[in-house]
Amino acid sequence: MGGSGTPPPWRYVTVSGLLVVLGVLWYAWWIVTGIGPAAVGYTLMPAGLVTAAAALRSMRRSVGLAPVAERFWGWLEAACYPLAAGYALLAVAAFRESPQLPAMPPVSAVLVGGGVLAAMWAVARVPVGVNSRADRGRQGLDRLIAFLGCVTVLWHFGIAPMLDAPQPWSGPAVATLMLSFGFAAGAITKVSYITGGPVDRAAVRLIGSTGLVAAAVAVFAAVPAFDGVIPAQAICLPVMPLLVALAARRQHGSAGARPRRGNVWLPYLAVLAVDLPLIELVVSPVAWDLREGETRLVVALAVVVTGLVTVRQYLSFRENSLLLAEKRASEARLRHEATHDPLTGLANRVLFRELLDEALAGPGATVLMIDMDDFKSVNDSLGHDAGDQLLIAFAEVLRSASGTDGTPARLAGDEFAILIDRPARGGDVAERLKQATTVPIGPHRLLVHVSAGLATAPGGAAATLLLRDADAAMYVAKQRGKANWVRYESGMEQSAQAHVQLGGDLREALAGGQLRVVYQPVVRLDDRRIVGVEALVRWEHPVQGTISPAEFIPAAEQTGLIVPVGRFVLRETCRQAAAWLAEFGPDALTRVAPNVSLRQLHDPDFEADVRAALEDHALPADLLVLELTESASLRSPRVSRVLHRLHGTGVRLALDDFGTGESSLSLLRTFPADIVKLDESFVDGIERDEPGSTAVARAVFQLAGAFGLETIAEGVENEEQAERLLRLGYTLGQGHHLGRPMTGDEITTIVAAQRAGAAAA
Ligand code: C2E
Ligand code: CA
Ligand code: CA
Repeated sequence: MGGSGTPPPWRYVTVSGLLVVLGVLWYAWWIVTGIGPAAVGYTLMPAGLVTAAAALRSMRRSVGLAPVAERFWGWLEAACYPLAAGYALLAVAAFRESPQLPAMPPVSAVLVGGGVLAAMWAVARVPVGVNSRADRGRQGLDRLIAFLGCVTVLWHFGIAPMLDAPQPWSGPAVATLMLSFGFAAGAITKVSYITGGPVDRAAVRLIGSTGLVAAAVAVFAAVPAFDGVIPAQAICLPVMPLLVALAARRQHGSAGARPRRGNVWLPYLAVLAVDLPLIELVVSPVAWDLREGETRLVVALAVVVTGLVTVRQYLSFRENSLLLAEKRASEARLRHEATHDPLTGLANRVLFRELLDEALAGPGATVLMIDMDDFKSVNDSLGHDAGDQLLIAFAEVLRSASGTDGTPARLAGDEFAILIDRPARGGDVAERLKQATTVPIGPHRLLVHVSAGLATAPGGAAATLLLRDADAAMYVAKQRGKANWVRYESGMEQSAQAHVQLGGDLREALAGGQLRVVYQPVVRLDDRRIVGVEALVRWEHPVQGTISPAEFIPAAEQTGLIVPVGRFVLRETCRQAAAWLAEFGPDALTRVAPNVSLRQLHDPDFEADVRAALEDHALPADLLVLELTESASLRSPRVSRVLHRLHGTGVRLALDDFGTGESSLSLLRTFPADIVKLDESFVDGIERDEPGSTAVARAVFQLAGAFGLETIAEGVENEEQAERLLRLGYTLGQGHHLGRPMTGDEITTIVAAQRAGAAAA
């Protein structure tokens, strides 16, 4: 036994195991042959205990134990010595008296009792690894339940029959046995809850199960027919030291296990356990009549255990429902966060797609795709906070426009959509949105222009196709001009695609010199002399021929290409103006007017570009007129500062398409304008004296006069219009009747002829 290669604790396991085998062999021999004193059976237990103590000692020496573990194993070892001594004394008594059931000497009982107490103490002090107060409370309750369950069983099957036995046990024997039962009940209920830590879990369980052995001994010994004392001493008891040796071995090889979940089924086992005596009561009631007192106790214990289990169930039910409510709330919170835009609180793209897919799985869906036209410039000029506030205000607009007819969502930066519940309501929602955006919104009172596209798809259609249609309609809306919505019609996706294509081609056009500038005369209405020109860009497309700016400027604005395009027009215009200045002197053409888009105004280099263009061609600043379309973002502080500075250097500013915007009057008060250009829509019809046109033309003229501004009437297409405008007080006009857009050279020819005519006159 115990070869040199075997780690020491195995040696003790082997020895104590051999003792058990020896006990079995001896008992078999004794029962068959009847030879030998029965007292031999008493010697195995003290021998085993000595082995167990040695196993513990050796393990404690060779393993570096944590303090908690050291304390536990130390106390157990300490328990082994009085136990060994007590059982040794009992063996001596057995040899001396040689009856099968020696009266337990009081000293022996005291020693055994002391050993059991020490073992109890050891087990009691192992921490169970419970953290929260609620956990501790619940576990206390569980252990109480389990303990009472154990006590009931041990009492009923162990102690009670022992007390009733025809050959009653001696007082000290009963006392030590009861103590062992206490240990068994306490240890079993305790070790079930040790979830981990420095004391090896399995090792503690092995120690706990020694309590079961004690219980088995009692049950065994109490069966009179069995004459169980001898086999209990020879076979059962030596198992206890074996278990201890195994536990020592186990702790020796322990790697410090991860904490695991504590026991949950013990209370239920306890209920089952208290049921066992009750079942017996049902099966053989006669036996119970004899032990009326005990019956009451068992029933009372069963009632208490059942009651405690009920309380425990209620407590964990309450705890569970609290946890559940908490979990539900946090799930709802997470779900909300995952499906909503944090800034505006609108549904996000994810939720939008979910709802859209749902609708398409049913009867079909209608989508209004929405884009804020100049959100980027607001963000650039007023800052991100103002941008955020505008988005929040706009989200509110979307909510009220949707009403109960749809769900608004924010898909990306300035891209929104409304999922409309019934197709028939699509137009209403779009109209409400259009109405709602005619007034300035948000703390900065900004006027937002939105382009929106409406599309409907039947159930079963693909979401991507529906979104593409709505997108295409939105593009068309954007192209048709500000504050507009368009219902999808087949073929629109091509135009949207062409639009994107156009953006790509434009880049090439810019690099390849396909852009050129034409000039439309600004003419005095009385003598029809040219006093200036408006510069208009043209795109000579190699395949499509000349493309009008109305077609490609929106694409250029969206792609940002308008900035280099505008720069090109500005420089080209200044170059041409310088040529005219050199040729005709300062009095012939007093103004050249390129158009400037909003996006250009927001470009940080714009002011420098203008100054450079003027300086490079040595142009006086007052020759240059910048044509701007009225818009809310002209009031952005940054743009306003740039324009004021340019105005300060002498550059003049014209408000283009005047009268079509919503904020004309208030804009005139703050904006450093020099010229207003009456929009062509008011010139059209003026010769027929249509009330709308004439009234506006007259009002604009008076308004401009009140602010000391010059006026130019646009889109003059016939003589009657020219005369009517002259009579209304307009002095300058522009239009096909007065001069179509033409090349710079053509303008040169006209001006030269004009001068020649003047010289002749
Ligand atoms: P706009 O500034 O209002 O320019 C006047 C437009 O009216 C020009 O169209 C011009 O050709 C057209 N027009 C002139 N007289 C008449 C007339 O008697 N009847 C009618 N029906 N139309 C007339 P165009 O050149 O196609 O330009 C369209 C718009 O494109 C311009 O409107 C302007 O907003 C923009 N644009 C043109 N060139 C540039 C540019 O270089 N930069 C920027 N940012 N925008 C430009
Ligand atoms: Ca213009
Ligand atoms: Ca115009």
